[in-house]
Amino acid sequence: MTDGKASRRSILRALSAGGAGTMAGVAAGALGTIGGVAAGGLLDDADAMPGTPVSALGVPTAGPWRPHPGHVDISWAVDTSQKLVALTFDDGPMPDWTPMVHDILDEAKIPATFFMVGRRVVEHARLIHGRMDRHAVGNHTWAHTDLTRLTHPQAYGAIHRAHTAIAEVTGKEARLLRPPLGNIGGTTLSAAGQLGYDVVLWSLKMREAFLGRPVGRLVDYIVDGCEPGTILLAHDTGHRDRLIAIRGLPAMIRGLRAKGFEFVTVPDLLAAADARPATR
Ligand SMILES: [Zn+2]
Repeated sequence: MTDGKASRRSILRALSAGGAGTMAGVAAGALGTIGGVAAGGLLDDADAMPGTPVSALGVPTAGPWRPHPGHVDISWAVDTSQKLVALTFDDGPMPDWTPMVHDILDEAKIPATFFMVGRRVVEHARLIHGRMDRHAVGNHTWAHTDLTRLTHPQAYGAIHRAHTAIAEVTGKEARLLRPPLGNIGGTTLSAAGQLGYDVVLWSLKMREAFLGRPVGRLVDYIVDGCEPGTILLAHDTGHRDRLIAIRGLPAMIRGLRAKGFEFVTVPDLLAAADARPATR
């Protein structure tokens, strides 16, 4: 985690990068939500997704509310001149692929960041026991619930419960939230801020179903697509289409190393951000 003001991204500056939000796969509805936050008020009901309580979209309005620190960073990627890339794996741990991913990372001796589902951490603690030393942990909520549909107390609970489970099982304190589906609402940000979290999305993702066969197409897409500061989204469980990304992982690692890339955790990538002048 970075502390310097120059390298931190304020919510408003992140929100001004609307195109990047689309690239990150943030739902159009969620972007509308963010706009509501940026404007400092609740959206009209007409702008909300069907069934979404308006309370899920805005910032808390009752009483004094101020998280410490008083801001949340949102990162799709990191602005750095160094050839660094962060591998991230979402949705585990699960028995199907998580051990395979760890075997591949151990073989290559590279770190990754696992955005874990708290309930699965408790159910499958043995899968990651003793295997997380090199890696960073991130929070993917307790049960992979779309946070944009939750009230502030519900979103807080979904993040906090996962935080506690991850800390108990791994001994590591998560400080980065990846909201399920990449969806961000007002309560996502307010609850994350209250818990001292920053938000991490991604700038490149495995497009398994689209590029799945043959595996070489996916490998080339990833190796060609990585830039300095890329945060790469993968999954260590899920639909079987996604398994091809795990099969291609050793070749991706070799290809990126051949291009001079070094693998780092997301916290280390954030810390490697180039200093930039203050914009205001
Ligand atoms: Zn997920």
